[in-house]
Amino acid sequence: MNSEVVASSVKQDGPQSLSTPVQVETVPKVNLLGMSRPQLEAFFETLGEKKFRAGQVMKWIHQFFVTDFAEMSNISGKLREKLEQVCEIKAPEVVHRNYSKDGTRKWVFRVGEGAGSLVETVLIPAEHKTGLSRTLCISSQVGCALDCSFCSTGKQGFQRDLTPDEIIGQLWVANHSYMEDVPVAERERSVTNVVMMGMGEPLLNYDAVLSSMYIMLDDFAYGMSKRRVTLSTSGVVPKIDQLGKDIDVALAISLHAPNDALRNELVPINKKYPLEQLIAACQRYIAKNGNESSRRHVTIEYVMLDGVNDHPEHAQQMIKLLKNLPSKINLIPFNPFPHAPYERSSRNRIISFQKTLSDAGFVCTIRQTRGDDIDAACGQLVGQVADRTRRAEQWKKKVEEGNVILRSQG
Ligand code: SAH
Ligand code: SF4
Repeated sequence: MNSEVVASSVKQDGPQSLSTPVQVETVPKVNLLGMSRPQLEAFFETLGEKKFRAGQVMKWIHQFFVTDFAEMSNISGKLREKLEQVCEIKAPEVVHRNYSKDGTRKWVFRVGEGAGSLVETVLIPAEHKTGLSRTLCISSQVGCALDCSFCSTGKQGFQRDLTPDEIIGQLWVANHSYMEDVPVAERERSVTNVVMMGMGEPLLNYDAVLSSMYIMLDDFAYGMSKRRVTLSTSGVVPKIDQLGKDIDVALAISLHAPNDALRNELVPINKKYPLEQLIAACQRYIAKNGNESSRRHVTIEYVMLDGVNDHPEHAQQMIKLLKNLPSKINLIPFNPFPHAPYERSSRNRIISFQKTLSDAGFVCTIRQTRGDDIDAACGQLVGQVADRTRRAEQWKKKVEEGNVILRSQG
């Protein structure tokens, strides 16, 4: 973190002070990237400035990707200097990026020290009748505590919550990646949709995720339509109700099993909030504002695990479970990872599962697996980078301990 060095409480009243090093206190700069408009307005007021400055600065940050206050031409030189001294605009550090031939882009961010402090973001393009969409899959936590049995993020355990600037920073970096060489005045945003489906459980990092989503929807920032921002949860029931009160975004539920016995195994949070409670919470979410297009239905995500949850009887149970919940079902072919205890259902099995649900009147799609030439699902790129980092750290330690003889040059 950039920090400003400020001399403070320097004692100058005795001979001792001549030999004592000057005490300095480092004051971290305030990162403006993760501040929602109300927060930024309050911040400007503390600086003795007018509230409308918040909107101006937000535009520079999120629409023109400016990180240097000197470039903010509609702000007075005096204020720019003041901001320079106490603030910064800082996205998380990109340690790895990969752009696939099919247009998929992935980034790994370092958000702390050590191999475990990595999160990833994936951007997936798709062609529709109405044009091209670019959907960004954003992470909300480093790792995840919920330990779903088919999820590589869950296997990494929970490290920490991401801060709002680390969450919105992923969208900032993705948009910026399309216009690094474009003059400021010609820059435009390229991400059309956001899904909170990267690493972590967004409803367990509620406040930071909420303020990031406020920034996504804000016309002074990304101005995204609420239909195009989706939060995915494994089912933290009380927070689904809270979300319904606080913001209008689309909701996706990681269902993965149509009965409690199987769901307890695959998605352990089901033991705390079983299916009946989860479905009721989804119904309340929709009822809250049923005419809004973002809330006409929930998306049901269902990972297809060979021989585990893909039997015809599971499809029948789904039909019963979802009969009173307006929903769209998305079948996700399982993405294998090293030591995963499952295999992906065969194409035929996925198609017949889909047919059963479609015949019963559900809109049911099969998720395309994309970006296969760079690697598979969320959480897995991080695994690879973490392995490399861990190996590099072990190597460094061995060298420092003198356990490695380095080949001399010449
Ligand atoms: N924690 C949230 C959001 C992140 S997971 C949630 O669980 O909804 C995003 C989606 O990817 C979830 O539907 C999750 O179940 C799914 N997923 C996780 N691991 C997967 C894997 N190995 N293959 C396919 N989908 C997976
Ligand atoms: Fe966490 Fe979602 Fe993975 Fe479950 S599927 S472990 S809730 S990230």
